[in-house]
Amino acid sequence: MRYIFDHDFHVHTQLSPCSSNPEQNPTRILQYAKENNLKTVITTDHYWDERIHSETDPYGIDNQTIHSWGPYPQEDGIRMLLGAEADIDLNGVLGINRQTCEEFDFIHISATHMHMDGFTCRGDESVEERIEMYINRFDIILNADLPFHKIGFTHPVTDLIGPDYINFVKVLDGIPDSEFRRLFKGAAERGMGIEINISSMRADDEVKKYVVLTPQMNPSVYRPYRIAKEMGCKFYFGSDAHRPRSFPFVKPFAEELIDIMGLEESDKFTLS
Ligand SMILES: [Zn+2]
Ligand SMILES: [Zn+2]
Repeated sequence: MRYIFDHDFHVHTQLSPCSSNPEQNPTRILQYAKENNLKTVITTDHYWDERIHSETDPYGIDNQTIHSWGPYPQEDGIRMLLGAEADIDLNGVLGINRQTCEEFDFIHISATHMHMDGFTCRGDESVEERIEMYINRFDIILNADLPFHKIGFTHPVTDLIGPDYINFVKVLDGIPDSEFRRLFKGAAERGMGIEINISSMRADDEVKKYVVLTPQMNPSVYRPYRIAKEMGCKFYFGSDAHRPRSFPFVKPFAEELIDIMGLEESDKFTLS
C-alpha cells in the first residue's frame, strides 16, 4: 500500500525567532492540518533545554516560552501535539535529555545545522571537517540515553551542512556508503524516525518558483534516503514551514516525494 501523507511533524510557530510571523499560530496551523486531511500535526520550535549547560550561545526559545501556547485547539480527527527541534552544540553537547523528552510529545534532533556560527559550528569548517561533524553528531544521537520512539532525525539532507549549495553536495558525497549504512542501521535498531524534510528537498526555479529535486537533478540527496530505507528505517514528513505561505506547497511536494522514493505505508514512522 502506497504511503499516505497524513501528518506533518515539523511546523514552526511564531515563537521561533526565524518565524516571528504573527499568522503562524496554533489556530492557523490547525486550519492547515484540516485543509490537507492531516491526522497529526506537531509544532517544533527551536529549543535548547536551559537546564543543560552549553559553553556556546544556544539558539532557541526557553523552557517557559515553548510551553506558553497552553492547550492546543483540537478538532475531531486531528492530533495537534507539542514538540521541539533540538541541537548539538559545537562541543558535542546535546541540548535535550531523557527528562526533557518527558515534557514533549516528540523531539527532532538536528545533526545538520552547520550554519549557526558560534553555536553549532565555528563557521570556517572545511568540507572534510563537516563530513566528520555529520558522522560524529549522528553518533552522539545514537549513543544518547533517549526515548527513541519519540525522537526524529531531522533533515538528514539539507544545504545547511554546506552551509551553501555547492559544499552541501560535497559534504554529502564525502560520506561513504559504509558509514551511512552503519548510522542508519543504528537508527533503525533504536526505532527513531528519519525525516523527509519538504523545505530541504526543493530547488528554486525561475519559472515555477519551487521544484522538487529529483534523483536525476541531484542524485546526492537521494543516496542517504536509499540507504536508510535499505537499513529498515522508518520515515516521517516535516514541512519545516515557518509561515503560512509555505503551506500550499507541502502536500503536492510530499506526494511527489512518495512516488520518487517509492514509499509504502510500511515505511512510515508512527508516533504511538
Ligand atoms: Zn532545522
Ligand atoms: Zn525546523
